Amino acid sequence: MAGRATNPVSHLFAIHAADEIRSYAGRLTAVVHAVENNWVPAHDDPGVPELLNTLRQFLIGAGLPEDNLFLLCYGLTAPGMQRGIVPPLMVLEENRGGFSARRQREAEAQIRQLRGVLAIGRFFFPQLDSDAQKAIFELADLCNRLPRPSSAEWLPGFRQLNDVQANQLAVEAIRCLDAGEKSLVEFGTRILQRLACFRDAGLTESTCDDLIARKIFWPSSLYRDTSASVARRLVDLRDHGPDRNLLLLALAWTRSEAALRAFQGWTEHAPPWAKSLYVPPQQYLLSAGWCLDEAGNRRDVISLDCFRLTGPSGVSDGNVVCRRSLSEECPSCGGPKGVLFDFTQTNEDLFSGPLAEAPRRILCCLHCSCYGPVFTRYHPDGTADWLSPLEPNEFAYEDGHSREHCYRTLEASPIPPFACAGLDNLDDASALGGIPMWLQDDEFPRCIDCGRFMTFLAQHDNGPLGEEGLYNAFFCVECRVAGVTYQQT
Ligand SMILES: [Zn+2]
Ligand SMILES: [Zn+2]
Repeated sequence: MAGRATNPVSHLFAIHAADEIRSYAGRLTAVVHAVENNWVPAHDDPGVPELLNTLRQFLIGAGLPEDNLFLLCYGLTAPGMQRGIVPPLMVLEENRGGFSARRQREAEAQIRQLRGVLAIGRFFFPQLDSDAQKAIFELADLCNRLPRPSSAEWLPGFRQLNDVQANQLAVEAIRCLDAGEKSLVEFGTRILQRLACFRDAGLTESTCDDLIARKIFWPSSLYRDTSASVARRLVDLRDHGPDRNLLLLALAWTRSEAALRAFQGWTEHAPPWAKSLYVPPQQYLLSAGWCLDEAGNRRDVISLDCFRLTGPSGVSDGNVVCRRSLSEECPSCGGPKGVLFDFTQTNEDLFSGPLAEAPRRILCCLHCSCYGPVFTRYHPDGTADWLSPLEPNEFAYEDGHSREHCYRTLEASPIPPFACAGLDNLDDASALGGIPMWLQDDEFPRCIDCGRFMTFLAQHDNGPLGEEGLYNAFFCVECRVAGVTYQQT
């Protein structure tokens, strides 16, 4: 499994499994370290049976009964290891605080984690030793040898799957969901979401049926552009579905005629359940990149052509300058105004469809946009006027806190427009067009002039620069207004 499999389905599954196991590397190494230093006591060492008894009782009370002697004995070392005490067991002596309730919780947390790693390890590598200690050693060793995939490898891998292969991979992923262990559920969900977002055709109808049968409606992008019959089934579930919020979001993501008609109907005649929603029903559509216009017709707020912004590079290597500070002062915070993106040196052909008349240079304040949308009016000659905010920002700009500019390259080969829908789908979400990656709830700004939801233009992921957050640029083509927002986790 660790090697490169020839079958694309098992290869994709294997590189994701490798990623998952490797995320536990630190915990596994700690166990190896403790064993090699003889810190893990034997179950019949003096004083240990009493400690084990206490721990067993605590675990039963916590609904996590455990019989494995190695896990229990290792759990006893957790409080000492967390405090850097050598040997760790010493911290449990009566004159050092004893095995207090807090320390029992620490032991429990460690055991819970190791049970999780073992469950995952055994799921992916059924040939693992049945002895817990040996299995942990094998997994720790595997971590050093497993491949290190990146989205540059898995994105094309998912895109190339045909329907039969997509079904095979989905069946494996759903097997993880059915296993019930939290980390396996998250693992299976991640694979399904990437299948749904990266493959042109998304998930197949039979996979969607399997998900509906399990009442799985989250993440809602699993239902992206699904078949008309799946969309109709979601519509039919609305009155007795498990969670109406999730159901409406899933329906929005079908982006289907059935969804359009349903949301049009709910807009004309608000259903009784609409009162219990956080926002009017039609606003659920935004998360899937569309909305209803004043006449009730479908309007996309994203471009379905999407191109990655690679890099970043500190030197002038790339055709898009990002986050460049200007010498002009922001009227709200007194810091420098900035240009989030300068696309004027890129291939004009990439600005087509809804982006044809989008601004090529996005003026903003990189500081103020962290506290609310910044609006400017853009002109055909590349210049722009400041619109908002004008009132003083209560969070003052501090010198030295400016963002460094960087250079990125706008790649000419497109990526799937919904590639950024999942939080960790890509290791760098910077892109022109497509759907934004939201770190919080989706929030398309309304144009400051006309009040309509603005169209998404581009996104800058600060992560690859070792910083937090994402900047998003939007525009309203009718009013020639650009807007910049920011989100972080
Ligand atoms: Zn400002
Ligand atoms: Zn407008």
